[in-house]
Amino acid sequence: MNPLLSHCAAGLLFATLATRPADAVEVRNVRLWAGPDSTRVVVDLSGNAAHSLLVLQNPDRVVLDVSGARLARTAHTPPAGAGAVKLVRMASRPSGELRIVLDLTQPIQAKSFLTTPNRRYGYRLVVDLGVPARVDKPIKVQHAPADARDLIVAIDAGHGGEDPGAIGKYGTREKDVVLAIARELAVRIDAETGMKAFLTRSGDYFIPLPDRMRRARAQQADLFVSIHADSIQDRSIDGSSVYILSQRGATDEASRWLAERENASDLIGGVSLDDKDDVLASVLLDLSQSAALNASQVAAMSVLRELAQAGEVRKHQVQQARFIVLKAPDIPSMLIETAYISNPQEEQRLRMHAHQARLAGAIHQGVHDYFYANPPTGTRIAQLAAASAPRPAPAAANSAAGAGE
Ligand SMILES: [Zn+2]
Repeated sequence: MNPLLSHCAAGLLFATLATRPADAVEVRNVRLWAGPDSTRVVVDLSGNAAHSLLVLQNPDRVVLDVSGARLARTAHTPPAGAGAVKLVRMASRPSGELRIVLDLTQPIQAKSFLTTPNRRYGYRLVVDLGVPARVDKPIKVQHAPADARDLIVAIDAGHGGEDPGAIGKYGTREKDVVLAIARELAVRIDAETGMKAFLTRSGDYFIPLPDRMRRARAQQADLFVSIHADSIQDRSIDGSSVYILSQRGATDEASRWLAERENASDLIGGVSLDDKDDVLASVLLDLSQSAALNASQVAAMSVLRELAQAGEVRKHQVQQARFIVLKAPDIPSMLIETAYISNPQEEQRLRMHAHQARLAGAIHQGVHDYFYANPPTGTRIAQLAAASAPRPAPAAANSAAGAGE
């Protein structure tokens, strides 16, 4: 998985040896990608080749020699400079290498690695130029340049359309009651200053699980709340539960993101992974995921606390599971089983508007408390929370409910 990776400090030479002798490798294309912190140079090769990288100063430039390579007819014109690269020059050397010189706008650090073919590309020699990305800066992008944006709460009513979800003894369908609760919740969120609700589905239609989170990510949601009603054979069981993604589920998802990042233009926590090497990409993803999982736990606990006050709670701890719908690596997410639709009393209650409103009210209060205790910077809620300090009830309620765990 990790390709031949070499780090070059300025002025040092590292040679990366190919595993097989290369003969007549063609350089088919040279591509440049300029990002805010780094510039990536990709050399498309017809096969495996050894290369060496040399970083020089006065003037600043990078010299890349590819052994036994020649320029394909299509690659005779070098690409225009971009980012840290002023000019690209290419020439065959008498000794048989193809030399690619990158004239730089500033001193940089460079590293290079060879990647093996995937579904989309053949062998690529990748040179990354730039300051190593700092991982301590806040990686969450601002939604808007305005200094006080609204928080976005994505509300996901489970199931829908041809998928009714669980069905109660009296024929109540999960998809209908959870949509009603989701709508009630959206009304409450929208009524609150500094918060906006986004419903992943607003009617009776089906959305595949991965698309639900995709929609939430497209809205740059600050929180994802999926609403369900549980079912179990034992009809005596009742109460609500709150789930977050398990560590196992998060690990699976990290592997998938890393494997697919070549094809994904998505941002993780505001950072693009497709221009990062494997090590950096996995570090960034890991940081983003840990932060999101921690936040999920705190937010879920806040909601669970309110649900416990509103009615019966099945378990007083946040549960963990590998729910596909929760697999966003950078959005705090929870799944709420509002009740057991398989329990006849709960089924009857779930049909009542007053009970739907009570559940929505509890979830809203939990979300409110969470954001006021942990306001994302740059949001209206952060200003309001600061203005209302010292924090009122939530902190005290936290410790009281937490003691029950
Ligand atoms: Zn469900």
